[in-house]
Amino acid sequence: MESGLETVCRVCGLDVGEVRFDEHGLALFVICECCGTESGVSDGIVAQARRVRGHWLDAGSTWFEPKARPAEWELQQQLRNIPPGWR
Ligand SMILES: [Zn+2]
Repeated sequence: MESGLETVCRVCGLDVGEVRFDEHGLALFVICECCGTESGVSDGIVAQARRVRGHWLDAGSTWFEPKARPAEWELQQQLRNIPPGWR
């Protein structure tokens, strides 16, 4: 994260460097290739982000874009990327 840009998914913690919220906090409607959440749609408030995360984890935390999933992917490690205010 640099200059207030948000690149980490608020729901699953994936960070591929793509800007999800700009420096003004405005959503850029980027669909997360991991959890499938679109920035600005269902992650605007923390309760909502937590609910979406819970559903995603309950459903087996499968990748929205399976081909993008790294071979050495670690769910717990990625969840630790979630910004503290969105956990
Ligand atoms: Zn995500």
